[in-house]
Amino acid sequence: MAELIDIRNLKKDYRLGARTVHVLEEVNLQIARGEKVSIMGPSGAGKSTFLHVAGTLDVPTEGSVMYEGLDVFSFPDRKLAAFRNRSIGFVFQFHYLLPDFSALENVMMPGRIAGDPIPAVRKQAQHLLEEVGLGHRFDHRPGELSGGEQQRVAIARALVMEPKILLADELTGNLDASTSKGIHDLLHEINRLHETTLVVVTHNTGLADSMDRRLLLQNGCIEDRDNLEEGRA
Ligand code: ADP
Repeated sequence: MAELIDIRNLKKDYRLGARTVHVLEEVNLQIARGEKVSIMGPSGAGKSTFLHVAGTLDVPTEGSVMYEGLDVFSFPDRKLAAFRNRSIGFVFQFHYLLPDFSALENVMMPGRIAGDPIPAVRKQAQHLLEEVGLGHRFDHRPGELSGGEQQRVAIARALVMEPKILLADELTGNLDASTSKGIHDLLHEINRLHETTLVVVTHNTGLADSMDRRLLLQNGCIEDRDNLEEGRA
């Protein structure tokens, strides 16, 4: 598998008044195209911060994030925004669907923002809603959908631009166990069908353990959980 992301010497600090909080101290991570990776770690360890920086929503304090050999933080703002819209899909714990738009319109939104031809975007959005099991819910607004269905719409929206990678932050943190399991299975199905690379931040050990690689973020660094467990054995 070829490398999709190469993250080197990544540091992220936040300034809080006169204080500097060192959240990511030294993160080095390579992720292959099509790989499925989980990241666990204590609350406040910096998992969301890491996903934001890896997803180019926030800038690193130091270090580089390369996508297929391109140093994306060297891009001018507009080029970086266009790259993000096309190449990276995000799903968060809270779905952030637009309440006044239907499921179909929500899924179409990234394509509309990019200015892509509407019929093609609509077709792709319909196809994805069918794939996530919501072929019968095109016209429902988010408030007319269950929590699990809302998260399925958010997943379809994240995939509408056919991103290379899907970054998920506690996407089933608010859902009951059986609804969560359905969404976890869907992630694997998406990876199988679209070869989308998955990076999943989660407290759910079942989901974390089902990924190809299981990482732990603690003390500002990312390590392989398998190596840590071998080291302790
Ligand atoms: P996790 O996702 O592992 O729970 P976060 O990445 O949300 O952790 O937060 C890591 C640390 O960074 C926390 O101490 C948090 O308070 C701090 N932090 C996150 N975002 C900001 C911000 N915008 N400004 C200042 N501190 C922040």
